[in-house]
Amino acid sequence: KPVVAIVGRPNVGKSTIFNRIAKKRIAIVEDQPGVTRDRLYAPAEWLGQEFSLIDTGGIDIDDAPLMTQIVAQAQIAMEEADVIVFLVSNQEGVTEADEHVARMLYKADKPVILAVNKADNPEQRQEIYDFYSLGLGDPYPVSGVQGTGLGDLLDAVVAKFPAKQADANDDSIEFSVIGRPNVGKSSLVNAILGEERVIVSNIEGTTRDAIDTRFTDDGQAFTIIDTAGIRKRGKIWENTEKYSVLRAQSAIERSAVVLVLIDAEAGIREQDKHVAGLAHEAGRGVIIVVNKWDAVHKDTHSMKKFTDEIRGQFQYLDYAPIVFLSAKTHQRVSTLPALIKKVAENHERRITSSTLNDVLLKAVATTPTPTSNGKRLRVYYMTQVKSGPPTFVAFVNNVDLMHFSYQRFLVNQLRAAFDFSGTPIVIVPRQRK
Ligand code: GDP
Repeated sequence: KPVVAIVGRPNVGKSTIFNRIAKKRIAIVEDQPGVTRDRLYAPAEWLGQEFSLIDTGGIDIDDAPLMTQIVAQAQIAMEEADVIVFLVSNQEGVTEADEHVARMLYKADKPVILAVNKADNPEQRQEIYDFYSLGLGDPYPVSGVQGTGLGDLLDAVVAKFPAKQADANDDSIEFSVIGRPNVGKSSLVNAILGEERVIVSNIEGTTRDAIDTRFTDDGQAFTIIDTAGIRKRGKIWENTEKYSVLRAQSAIERSAVVLVLIDAEAGIREQDKHVAGLAHEAGRGVIIVVNKWDAVHKDTHSMKKFTDEIRGQFQYLDYAPIVFLSAKTHQRVSTLPALIKKVAENHERRITSSTLNDVLLKAVATTPTPTSNGKRLRVYYMTQVKSGPPTFVAFVNNVDLMHFSYQRFLVNQLRAAFDFSGTPIVIVPRQRK
């Protein structure tokens, strides 16, 4: 999917425009309301063309002067995006900071669309001609507050998308390795690739900086998403939390299965939960990988203790298998491909309606449905509407009676009946009289 970044100095309205364009995601059913939603990276769509949207304005580097922040944003956009939307403001006119960003963007070897925000009425839309002086072609007047002008802007953006390449990844299972800095992502990727003798190719991203690496294990092709992003080091923004979240989101979007890496030596941190929550919310297959297992003092209870702690801290990931390994000594690294394959299969699993309804009938027969104000919930039948993750519609007499606890009960029945390990399951209640 093409990636579009919005850049511009503070207060021009980047977040407002971002929120207007970003698509809302159907939330995965979950019992942990604490999962954070960082809207720096969001799926979006225009006229049937899907793309991802980045708000680089959300990546702030602590204590850096304004100009450093703006430069970092423009650099991030130039690395991450296929098309850059440079947002300026009609209220302030052309500023020095705008000119600075424009000069940087000349060097980007990517299409740049100039959008002028706060052009709220026809007179103001006449005033945008000053912005031709930025040397970036036609300015597109928009109003984030009113939502006007976005159609024309998006037409221009979509027209610049790179021509669709033949999908090089055919049957390969795409997965990514995410986690906070220093958990050992880069070490694990190297360890996986070191174990696998057949590295087929590096697949260059279209115009982006992402490089995906492909290998084959036991006849199955796999693609590790964005190995370049995992290994790269050095730019000032690369260790900011927001940027690593952005990278993680971008990798998650393109993966079927996500390995969430935790550092056994350092233990579970807040940031680990944040990253794990992103994978869960996106509905991907998830495997929790505890790295640096070589570095902890162990006795016969260590694994059980760490497992209990993970289950307690990541309750919404109760479906994710846990692997204890060492990227350093390669202990158990070779078990990963088979596990990733299994999770990918479960993520795509489809259950026929008749089998599904056998399970439902049994569940309803053994456990009475809940009642509320004297009314009893009835679940008439269920049908799977999609996979990746498996998503089921449950037809009921009254959606208000379908409480979360009962949905979880149904999810557990499905997990007991079929192998859904590693994948979230979504149940959507629908009213049927
Ligand atoms: P990244 O930032 O997540 O990519 O982490 P790196 O792969 O750069 O690793 C961070 C640090 O942890 C480095 O010093 C690694 O040598 C070390 N490290 C990575 N994996 C292991 C492991 O399995 N065991 C031990 N003891 N150290 C590890």
